[in-house]
Amino acid sequence: MINLLIMGKPGAGKGTQSTRLLEYYHLTHISTGDIYREEMAKNSAIGKLAKQYIGKGELVPDDVTNDIVKNVLSTKKFPNGFMLDGYPRTAAQAVALDEMLKELGISLTAVINVEVDDKVLLERMAGRRVCPSCNATYHISFHPPVKDNVCDVCGTVLIQREDDLEESVLNRLRIYNEKTKPLLDYYKKKGLLFVVNGERPKDEVFNTILQRIGD
Ligand code: AMP
Repeated sequence: MINLLIMGKPGAGKGTQSTRLLEYYHLTHISTGDIYREEMAKNSAIGKLAKQYIGKGELVPDDVTNDIVKNVLSTKKFPNGFMLDGYPRTAAQAVALDEMLKELGISLTAVINVEVDDKVLLERMAGRRVCPSCNATYHISFHPPVKDNVCDVCGTVLIQREDDLEESVLNRLRIYNEKTKPLLDYYKKKGLLFVVNGERPKDEVFNTILQRIGD
């Protein structure tokens, strides 16, 4: 049983690494961001409430998020373990998670932090372009399309996602630094924190994590 928590600043490459880790260890994915997106798509009461915060780039209140995770952890099956992604994001959430895990008799295997410098993140996100038609992603310097600003796959003109605009990135980084970063110390004190350099190539980052977690 491997129970992981994956953390990182917005744009650090957490998504890429978690997808690969989920496949490798056959873990159950618990992503609060995904849950909120599903609830918003269903237009449920939780979805409507979450939308007010997510639309402004703010965090959904702790009690709402904690209830959701508690419900998932106590009802969902995770035969090989789980990966919590995007939770906890505040000190209050970390404390609530500890209580939930204690009640359920579950312990965390490791907390992985994909570390990337703020300057590198801004550069990565400022250059990111997506195809509004087929969702293919590009980067103007690191992975440019063959023809300037046009999707290689379907020929649609590329756009910059609102989330990737500098103001939005800076706002999310500010929230991360203020609310989520202190959690790294919290998990370091528990001896659970594993920091991996997210500025290295993706495969290398993945292999470093595997070496730490083991089989
Ligand atoms: P993500 O895809 O993880 O970046 O989540 C998208 C948005 O959902 C975040 O910007 C928050 O507004 C909200 N959200 C996701 N997870 C949490 C959490 N643990 N606590 C509060 N809000 C969250």
